[in-house]
Amino acid sequence: MGVADNRREGCDGCDRSVVLGRLTTVSMPDGTQVACCPTCTPHARAAAERAELETASATCEGCRSTVETADVEDVVLTDGTVLSLCSACRAHQPNAGSEGTGSSPTASDARSAPDAGVTSSTEIAPSKRLCGHCREWIRAEPYRVTLVDDRVESLCPTCKETAVDEGIVVDVAMRRVDAREILDVDEDASAEEIRAAFQEQVKHAHPDRPTGTREAFRLVRGAYERLK
Ligand SMILES: [Zn+2]
Ligand SMILES: [Zn+2]
Ligand SMILES: [Zn+2]
Repeated sequence: MGVADNRREGCDGCDRSVVLGRLTTVSMPDGTQVACCPTCTPHARAAAERAELETASATCEGCRSTVETADVEDVVLTDGTVLSLCSACRAHQPNAGSEGTGSSPTASDARSAPDAGVTSSTEIAPSKRLCGHCREWIRAEPYRVTLVDDRVESLCPTCKETAVDEGIVVDVAMRRVDAREILDVDEDASAEEIRAAFQEQVKHAHPDRPTGTREAFRLVRGAYERLK
């Protein structure tokens, strides 16, 4: 009588013996279940959540959803931008190289039209990219933004401004388009032209010059580093 209700069992957390009814079962992400006393239960839950985040911590730069790391692959766009995308987003990514997904059934479809007179892949605008925050495709060159938690994201101008306002940005990489503006060179400028433009700008920007400042010099140097 009443004996069964008073059965005790050890807590998997602290090893204390507790009345059975007061033990809570917590499922860990790896499938194991631990029985915890009221004191240990919140810690076990927190640990389980942390472990869960670690096993599925990859964030798709396309849809922004948290997915299993195994489901995310780096996709190199035709312009050299690298995006970490989930399988669903990789399927939708128009600029992605298809080398990584050789088993795709569309590969044979593409071969069925060998000499269509119209140029195909080159017509896709290489400047089209995905904002890592609002998920919108953006035509302008995105900002490579380093956030306070060390994540690097490609953001559209609006989201970049918002992030800066929120104070979560530690660094914004210079965009090529801005670098070209600083050096005053065209998009198709040769390495030699870029070098010449750099030397010309340094004449004005160098802090030893009356027109120069450290900041101006830093910008010119940064622009050259970005483009050379
Ligand atoms: Zn315990
Ligand atoms: Zn995705
Ligand atoms: Zn955005």
